[in-house]
Amino acid sequence: MTIFSKIIEGVIPSYKVAEDDNYYAFLDINPLAEGHTLVVPKKEVDYIFDLDEKTLAGMILFAKKIAKKMDAALDCKRVAVVVLGLEVPHAHIHLIPLNNESDVDFKKPKLKLTPEKFQEIADKISI
Ligand code: AMP
Repeated sequence: MTIFSKIIEGVIPSYKVAEDDNYYAFLDINPLAEGHTLVVPKKEVDYIFDLDEKTLAGMILFAKKIAKKMDAALDCKRVAVVVLGLEVPHAHIHLIPLNNESDVDFKKPKLKLTPEKFQEIADKISI
């Protein structure tokens, strides 16, 4: 079971942003910006382009709902959509509040936030 499946099942805690029958979204614990969110399918598939068409299309529509909430609730120009990384073998989309293109530089030091701050952000953008 991947770490993201453990998060979906509640075995590992997360700052939940949204959930439906097929998808789960939660704050990235090493955020590039306040509100940095991961969207994952409940189906455990490693590579996003190995997802079946319905799950892949639904994942983007699920991400859109969260991004729209982020647009409204956070101080950002847009929300960036990023798929990268080899770290966790469970497909995921990063949603990152964007004011400058450098905001999505994954080599930058990550923000250190308190649990209270994570919870405050999750409450602000949850749908
Ligand atoms: P990547 O595979 O490069 O997209 O990286 C996986 C992302 O998952 C990283 O940004 C991590 O900070 C994030 N991550 C890993 N474990 C957790 C966790 N337990 N809770 C929240 N985010 C996590």
